[in-house]
Amino acid sequence: MIYWKKLSQEERKERIQSALKENVNFSNDASLGYPASKLDGKVFYDDAPFLKDAPTLQTYVANPNHIGCHTLGTSESAFKGTQEIEREVLNVIAVDIFKAQPNSIDGYISPGGTEANIQAIWMYRNFFMYQKKAKLDEIAILTSEDTHYSIPKGANLLMLDLIKIPVAFENREIDKIALENEIIKAKQNGKKYFIAIANMGTTMFGSVDNPDDYTSVLEKHNAEYKLHIDGAYGGFVYPFSNQKSTMNFSNPKISSITIDAHKMLQSPYGTGVFVCRKGLIENVLTKEAQYVEGMDLTLCGSRSGANAVAVWMILFTYGPFGWFEKVSILQMRTQFLCHELDELNIQYFREPFMNIVTIHSQYISEEIAKKYDLVPEQHNQDNKWYKVVLMDHVEVQHLTSFINDLKTMIHA
Ligand SMILES: *Cc1c(COP(=O)(O)O)cnc(C)c1O
Repeated sequence: MIYWKKLSQEERKERIQSALKENVNFSNDASLGYPASKLDGKVFYDDAPFLKDAPTLQTYVANPNHIGCHTLGTSESAFKGTQEIEREVLNVIAVDIFKAQPNSIDGYISPGGTEANIQAIWMYRNFFMYQKKAKLDEIAILTSEDTHYSIPKGANLLMLDLIKIPVAFENREIDKIALENEIIKAKQNGKKYFIAIANMGTTMFGSVDNPDDYTSVLEKHNAEYKLHIDGAYGGFVYPFSNQKSTMNFSNPKISSITIDAHKMLQSPYGTGVFVCRKGLIENVLTKEAQYVEGMDLTLCGSRSGANAVAVWMILFTYGPFGWFEKVSILQMRTQFLCHELDELNIQYFREPFMNIVTIHSQYISEEIAKKYDLVPEQHNQDNKWYKVVLMDHVEVQHLTSFINDLKTMIHA
């Protein structure tokens, strides 16, 4: 760990307040040029007494705009204090959690995992078009059928073909034979460049793809590719539960990763994280963004600096060991649920390092699904799975009552 540590409440408060002091202060400074200010003072008081002990809320009221990307070139100087906080967050995630070398990464805190994934596809599409002179229809996205719908959304926006690889019903593993056949077929259809997207925790199953499945077949067929990891779901769980994981920047074939802080880290919505190796993000430079100091290399434009502070606060409240402990507790609860399901001979899927249990729908009555708010794979009659996500608020007591209801149902 280079950047990540646990800080006391006082240390955190001081760090954020000193960052806010480095930013323009709309309450006192003569700042004439920005279409920006602190939050409306009639509604959001900046002198409320509780704010002095609540650094994240203080930042919300100060309302810094983190427009642009702050890991490369110059940035809007008015918000340089909290931009530094954002860089600290990106360093913790890219270097300490995902094993990048220091100063080897670009990125930003995006509105969510959807944007982070689209940013990755956009970046690689342009990389192939600008650096390799690829034509749009020579590029294809390669991913599994369990992949999140943000990838088809990105394919649609960026006008790229999407090749979906089937997975096995029970273990959710990519069908490697189908993968190879699809690549052969795509090459015959004129595809030369592939954007492969491997999941670190699919939304429905928590299944984790093996990136080698993609790279080995692509290399066997001499296809040019870039590899992105979608860790929106599992990014704050899997690297902790599976410390030997190499699904990170120690693998030179992985070029970028999406990690949502607003899922497992429980930070406010608006805290997706996109990180990529240096030398790539320049491919999405919008030259026309001339009023933004530095450059805009992001999809979204204006975004709140308070989101960076919120993620920073969580990371530095727990520290690496505190976070490991929290993930371990969720793992134990998941283990407990799986054990109880085994006792009842109920079939389910669980990736051993994740906190999601996806149960065959035949064991779950509609009544139970409704009572416990279980999420179906499909909202129709064909649904075959329901998932339980072992979040912080899902305690053993809730699981016990769920298991008891399942028992009653089985014996009825
Ligand atoms: C939730 C999720 C996303 C999209 O994230 P949003 O933050 O909702 O935009 C992308 N990929 C996976 C695997 C997800 O679980």
